[in-house]
Amino acid sequence: MSILSLFKKILPFIKPYKWLLIATLCLTLIGSVMAQVNAYILRYTVDELTVITQNPDPMQQGARLLLIISIILIAKELIYAAIQFGQKFYGEKLRIFISRDFAQLVVDKILSYRMAFYTASNNESGKLQTRIDMGISSLTRLVRNFFIDILPLFANALLALIAMFNANVWVGLVSLSIIPIYFYVSNLQAKRLSGFRRSLRNYRETKSNAIISIINSITVIKSFTREPLEADKHEKIQFDMTENQMKTRHTSFMFDSIKSMLEQVGVVVVIILTAFFVLNGTMSIGAIMFHIMLFGNVTSPIRQLHRIYDEINDALIYSESFFEIMEADDEKETSGSYIPSELKGNIELKNVDFTYPNGTKALHNVSMTIPANTITALVGLSGAGKSTVVNLLDKFYQPQSGKILLDNVDLMEYDTNWLRNNIGLVLQRNHIFHGSIKENILYGKPNATDDEVFLAAKKAHIHDQVMELPKGYDSEANLLSGGQQQRISIARMFLKNPPIIFLDEPTASLDAIATQEIKNSLDAIKKDRTVIIISHSISQIIDAENVVVMDKGRVMEQGTHEQLYAQNGKYHEIFSAMASSLNLDKISDTLNDQQ
Ligand code: ADP
Repeated sequence: MSILSLFKKILPFIKPYKWLLIATLCLTLIGSVMAQVNAYILRYTVDELTVITQNPDPMQQGARLLLIISIILIAKELIYAAIQFGQKFYGEKLRIFISRDFAQLVVDKILSYRMAFYTASNNESGKLQTRIDMGISSLTRLVRNFFIDILPLFANALLALIAMFNANVWVGLVSLSIIPIYFYVSNLQAKRLSGFRRSLRNYRETKSNAIISIINSITVIKSFTREPLEADKHEKIQFDMTENQMKTRHTSFMFDSIKSMLEQVGVVVVIILTAFFVLNGTMSIGAIMFHIMLFGNVTSPIRQLHRIYDEINDALIYSESFFEIMEADDEKETSGSYIPSELKGNIELKNVDFTYPNGTKALHNVSMTIPANTITALVGLSGAGKSTVVNLLDKFYQPQSGKILLDNVDLMEYDTNWLRNNIGLVLQRNHIFHGSIKENILYGKPNATDDEVFLAAKKAHIHDQVMELPKGYDSEANLLSGGQQQRISIARMFLKNPPIIFLDEPTASLDAIATQEIKNSLDAIKKDRTVIIISHSISQIIDAENVVVMDKGRVMEQGTHEQLYAQNGKYHEIFSAMASSLNLDKISDTLNDQQ
């Protein structure tokens, strides 16, 4: 990305604050004019003092001169301080406002993106977070630098240069000639550093990912006592990063020395040149002071040029991936506009092929019918593609070929929000948000009354346990056990009350008692709805009126439990394995003994 295109992208964010910007710019200009005052006053002072020292009583005249000069300088400094304060404050205000807008817009954007965006490997949560954070901070730093540092400095430099040309063309030319040399050296420095900066960004992303991964896997790490292994992995990243940082510093410091030497050479040339004009009588002695001070004003922004280059480079690098996130319009979720007056709930998959964004082909020519108001069980080993079917039905992903029909209308034509509002999804481990139990249940219907929340919790068999907690429904939901959290998420679905329900191993993480309780409540909610259940529980599979057997992304069989069992095929094999894993003989012996 070029600087120009970066500014074009930032411009719309600055536009709403144009008056703030104009105020900052005006103050900048006034500040720059005032910054030249010292040089003029010093020249005047030196020249006056030179004359006064020739007089018989130099002390008295000199004291009066110094008094007037001091008053002028102090008054100027007071005004200058106020202007600088205003300029910095408004510049900072601009930065803070723009930073807030960037941060909000990026969240709005990513929320509108489809599921594939989140599962893409370069958007893993840690990486995405770093890209967003670094993007915002480097862009806002750029805005601040431009308006608070760069602009005043360059305005100063320009005015000082004009003043120098005004005083003497040759002195002006010397100052002017140093600028391209400085630009060349700074540009060289920036180019040398850009490779390092890119890899530093990668290291930072990997590092923050590595720490998140340690936190997420801490139980496994500890139980296998693999702390040294994890520490070694981290150490390698650290060492590579250190080497990179050292090279960056080495290059930076080397160029800094070259630039500082160039500046001093410039000062010497200005002194020699002005001294020559003083000696040949064309200038007064005060001009030496005057030119050195003005030359300082010309070189001060140039002294910072590498930092400015650095930060522009930073902004270019980080904003590249930041704007990739902001402008990933092809990642936007698509939605049709169809909203039916009535939803029956007949679902049909016709020759569906689906490959995940990472290239895993999960469904091959899948066809199945899921009749309305029935319970359909998806049966198959892990990885067979059962959850993928549910993902497609929720429009989280789109099939590459084939069709999915709901009440004979292509799913793609449906309004996505409407569709999801009519589908309830309960997963094996449901997400519980930070917040109270009540807030978590209300997620299913934000405007529900307390009574509705309590009723939903009762149906999910969690109400009594919540009431026993010291803070009741205001207790922190994250502190509940896994089984309790699962029932909170089922209560959430009861509150939503959708006509279509997908249950993806809803009781897999629960104990036997909780499973039994939830089974009862799920049985209640299953009535008169279209339900798809993915389960490894025999009782839940037997309950289904329709069974679809999947294997390696393909549909193998479809029918009722009795039909499929009689076929002696894949279903027979899976069912028999499930039954024998229960050790039915021993269970029945135990139960018989008790009778
Ligand atoms: P099941 O629910 O039957 O256990 P899934 O539908 O979860 O099976 O998975 C089917 C295949 O798709 C598996 O090979 C799995 O690794 C792959 N898969 C599942 N989710 C993703 C994903 N988000 N990205 C890439 N591959 C995936």
